[in-house]
Amino acid sequence: MSDQAFYSALQTKLDTLQTEGLFKPERVLASRQGAEVVAADGRTLINMCANNYLGLSGDLDTQKAAEAALQKYGYGLSSVRFICGTQTVHKELEQKLSDFLGTEDTILYAAAFDANGGVFEPLFDENDAIISDALNHASIIDGVRLCKAARYRYANNDMADLEKQLVAATEAGKRHKIIVTDGAFSMDGTIARLDEIVALAEKYGALTMIDESHASGFMGKTGRGTHEHFNVMGKIDIITGTLGKALGGAMGGFTSGRKEVIETLRQKSRPYLFSNTLAPMIAGASIAVLDRISNSTELRDRLHENTAYFRKEIERIGFTIKPGTHPVVPVMLFDAPVAQKFAARMFELGVLLSGFFYPVVPMGQARVRVQLSAAHTREQLDTVLKAFEQAGRELGIIKN
Ligand SMILES: *Cc1c(COP(=O)(O)O)cnc(C)c1O
Repeated sequence: MSDQAFYSALQTKLDTLQTEGLFKPERVLASRQGAEVVAADGRTLINMCANNYLGLSGDLDTQKAAEAALQKYGYGLSSVRFICGTQTVHKELEQKLSDFLGTEDTILYAAAFDANGGVFEPLFDENDAIISDALNHASIIDGVRLCKAARYRYANNDMADLEKQLVAATEAGKRHKIIVTDGAFSMDGTIARLDEIVALAEKYGALTMIDESHASGFMGKTGRGTHEHFNVMGKIDIITGTLGKALGGAMGGFTSGRKEVIETLRQKSRPYLFSNTLAPMIAGASIAVLDRISNSTELRDRLHENTAYFRKEIERIGFTIKPGTHPVVPVMLFDAPVAQKFAARMFELGVLLSGFFYPVVPMGQARVRVQLSAAHTREQLDTVLKAFEQAGRELGIIKN
């Protein structure tokens, strides 16, 4: 406590965040997560900014499965997996995830951030090349940083640039090459062009890795993910993902792939070796979630109906969106102050959504992001659309 200058410097930086409009306040909820939430001030809001794609966060069946696992396995393990932190529920979840994703084996982590942070360093070294999409998630960027492999970056979803980087890595004589991409990009709702990526990987003898955090559980005909969507199941080498979004929403992550890869990670991956085991109630609830969505596509179908409806109606009202099919719908407002005002007005009108502007998205690309859920009712979506129309007129965004 003898270096006061340290604390003053921090305060100055925090003040700068405030004046630049980049400070992230925390919205406090007084209810469980869901299509509707109650704010700390008691107001009920329609929630359009959770990654609760299948509506399973706050869901009572998910909760019951967690309670059953809590009863049977207790609260926690006070151990990493390899000492005395592996229970049958963890092995069962790993097997279920492998079956669901169409892979040989799966390893659990406390978060997808850890899965990505711990996947590269054990598998690749300075003789290898990691070829990464420019918009990949922060945890992939950090994971790559922890690894000695040469780094190549390609413009977002740009197959010509990806091929250029594959050529460069090949000419540099790299031993193994791996193409790494988010399956779906959460800022734009863009879906990675996996069919073309797999074709390029085959052409250049490269491995492929996808982060399915915004895809597992609802992309593809039966919700397996982006690889199912593009009909390339069995052709992706490594799949990472989260249990903290569509698949229940608590927390937890995984890496899935060939057994040689997963066994290597169990032996060498630092966030796995040196961090506590996933709480058994989360593992138990995740098993129930996977069973539920494997037995019926009802939630996934409802999510896609809601998404199609919202995308069509918001354009009909006169807003501009990034085209696509993903439940992330960026409603483009372009101007940062307008996006800020718009999100604030929507909040007053009872709709929770988030505004994004530079430097989170490129200059001139300010937006509010809507995320659909299977839990939204048609009435809730119509209420949200009415609020969009009202705020849009008030702020002169829509004219007719
Ligand atoms: C949310 C997210 C993560 C992190 O997931 P956690 O399980 O919350 O750590 C990783 N990758 C992508 C692409 C994500 O969207």
